[in-house]
Amino acid sequence: MMILWCLPRQRLRTGISDALMDKYEVLKNYFGYDKFRQGQSEIIDAVESGRDVLGVMPTGAGKSMCYQIPALMKPGFAVVISPLISLMQDQVRSLVELGIRAAYINSSLSMSQLYAVINNCAQGIYKLVYVAPERLDSEVFVNMAINADISMICVDEAHCISQWGQDFRPSYLGIPEFIAKLPKRPVVAAFTATATDKVREDIRELLHLSSPFELVTGFDRENLYFEVRQPADKNHDLVRLVGKYCNDGRSGIVYCSTRKDVEAACELLRERGIPCVRYHAGLSDEERKKNQDDFIYDRVRVITATNAFGMGIDKSNVSFVIHYNMPKDLESYYQEAGRAGRDGSQSDCILMYSPRDTVIARYLIDKSYEESALGSEEAEKVRQRDMKRLWDMVNYSKNTSCLRSYILRYFGEKGVYNCCNCSNCCKGAELSDITVDSQKIMSCIFRSGEQHNIKWVSDILRGELPQGTQHEEAESLSTFGIMNGANESYIFDICETLRSRGLISAENNGAVSLTAKALPVLRGQMTLNARLSSDITARTSRRSDDSELAARLRAVRDKLARKQRVPAYVILADSVITELSEKKPVTERSFMDIQGITRAKYDRYADSFIAEILEWQKEKGIPVKTRQSRDQSEKSADVIREMLNGLEDIELSAKDVTISELCSNIIVRAKEKHEKRISPNTLRMMILSRLSDEGYIRNVYDDAGHLSRETTQRSADIGISSYQVKNSAGESFTRIVYNTQAQSYVLGLFGMTGKAADKQG
Ligand code: ADP
Repeated sequence: MMILWCLPRQRLRTGISDALMDKYEVLKNYFGYDKFRQGQSEIIDAVESGRDVLGVMPTGAGKSMCYQIPALMKPGFAVVISPLISLMQDQVRSLVELGIRAAYINSSLSMSQLYAVINNCAQGIYKLVYVAPERLDSEVFVNMAINADISMICVDEAHCISQWGQDFRPSYLGIPEFIAKLPKRPVVAAFTATATDKVREDIRELLHLSSPFELVTGFDRENLYFEVRQPADKNHDLVRLVGKYCNDGRSGIVYCSTRKDVEAACELLRERGIPCVRYHAGLSDEERKKNQDDFIYDRVRVITATNAFGMGIDKSNVSFVIHYNMPKDLESYYQEAGRAGRDGSQSDCILMYSPRDTVIARYLIDKSYEESALGSEEAEKVRQRDMKRLWDMVNYSKNTSCLRSYILRYFGEKGVYNCCNCSNCCKGAELSDITVDSQKIMSCIFRSGEQHNIKWVSDILRGELPQGTQHEEAESLSTFGIMNGANESYIFDICETLRSRGLISAENNGAVSLTAKALPVLRGQMTLNARLSSDITARTSRRSDDSELAARLRAVRDKLARKQRVPAYVILADSVITELSEKKPVTERSFMDIQGITRAKYDRYADSFIAEILEWQKEKGIPVKTRQSRDQSEKSADVIREMLNGLEDIELSAKDVTISELCSNIIVRAKEKHEKRISPNTLRMMILSRLSDEGYIRNVYDDAGHLSRETTQRSADIGISSYQVKNSAGESFTRIVYNTQAQSYVLGLFGMTGKAADKQG
């Protein structure tokens, strides 16, 4: 376990000045965002005014911010009651990374760790303390709480208090008792993604909320694409889909109903060369933990899992969720699918439906009925409720109109008529005429004697030599190469359509042949239109973060994450990488403008990302910073150049100096000339980038992703040299230094001139 509660103090903020910040400043300074999402601002205001809150917002809507921001603004610390250890660890890890003092208390702490956290709580070190509900009656915790300055109590996943919810946790029922022990009742804020009236009523009553401010935000997640497929061969479809996502560098979850299916799907993907891990309750604790970590830390991009996986997972860069089986209800489906796209990126939720799934779901409902600890009457009520939910889920799977509308209506909202971001809406728009290509395919099948499989046919059409076939044989076919340039999955898609419509049929050995239904199409008497599943290719290609630069920035992020032993999304969310790759900021101001970049993140990581952007621009021959330099509002490099231009009498040292020392000399002189706008960091970056452009130094990354610079063969030409030194930890690193000639050269690059320092003569 990472020991998050004892990170070095200097990395964390004191929180003293936060009371003076308004909610917008806290949002920007700590989280790097400019705008609140729907509902956040109102909830924060209610908490601030001392009113209890019940917030019902879908997964990924940003519930955490609703209590984290007031916690930062109020004196004391917030107690956040959270049901799962991994959820707490994720949240605390992300907060600490943002420079916010937070800790958790749960069964994963040793006795000495527990006392250290309790002690820190008593001293008011933290702003947020996450607690497992089972800990609320521990004497040591209660004693501390009674004497501490608790700003608010937040109940996360508040539906756990209700037996009508998905995840009833009896220990949640003890929360009011804990609150009653406190000398002064703090504000209580409860949050959940479960919207049913019964659950909300339970939360209100069982938590003893006092006339709470209630807010139910829209359940729509616009960035999620919903699709239902009914593939003839789920495994084939799964491999194709997951393979495509992985090629695009995307990370995702494949949910299956049973452990057996989880094992089989994981095995299948691995066999097809797709690295994958599995997760279900039948695995040992160690394997579950390891597999979960491999997924969270992006060591493996795909996890196959039962619904045991996910509730505690805060991974924001999950960009696809595939349900290999239909879940038992829409509540579960929406919650699981909703684990995609938490960072706001366009993400896919694909449900693979087959009638067999209904049988499995019925079996699971009956099993839980038989094993239920409830009295028979109540158990029967629950069973009937579950069956009704199952049929609603089946109806979703078979629904032919907008899927999003169906979901929203189910959760009691008015659905949009046509969302344009689900398979039913998109397919209508993407109906393609496949007559000519179908003719080519069927002609090839016919001319080659109806004795080959689809792969062979596809190879011939694309002008590739199928395995085991002679050149002469292939080239003698008039259909050889007539679909040159088409991709294989497109041809497979059309074949699937032809097969499902009975125009071609396949023997047991895979050989395809034509049926009588094929004739009208071959003779041009009938046209064929189809909605091809290769539409996924079209959609995924719209994701701008698939660009080469995004991939390079992700690689930089992954190395930094490995170095810090945190998941990649804790360093920067995928949405931030996307924005960086689109806007390519290379100046402080433009970098800070990216949503999700805080001052702390800028200070820690900007160097590495900016260097990669500059390197990329250089390789592409893109004039560096052209776009930014036009923007007068920015402290762009050209503006700085302008400020520096003509600056005289900068002190030149007779000794070798580092780049930072040289920059300090420049800034001292600039300030004397009343030019105070230049930041040392930007200046340093600008000089290094220019020197690297000219080949006098080179950017290198070590295995841990740390950016450093090296001298090149040309360095000595202008007086740049380097030597090895050791830091206080005994690690060796390269120090690059600049002699007087090199200092003059650097000044000259920006139109400045120097003078020898008097003392150094
Ligand atoms: P929930 O708890 O509702 O599932 P989270 O609180 O985990 O959702 O938030 C999901 C993601 O949305 C996080 O990556 C978070 O940083 C981001 N987020 C939250 N509020 C905002 C905002 N106002 N602007 C941009 N991103 C936000």
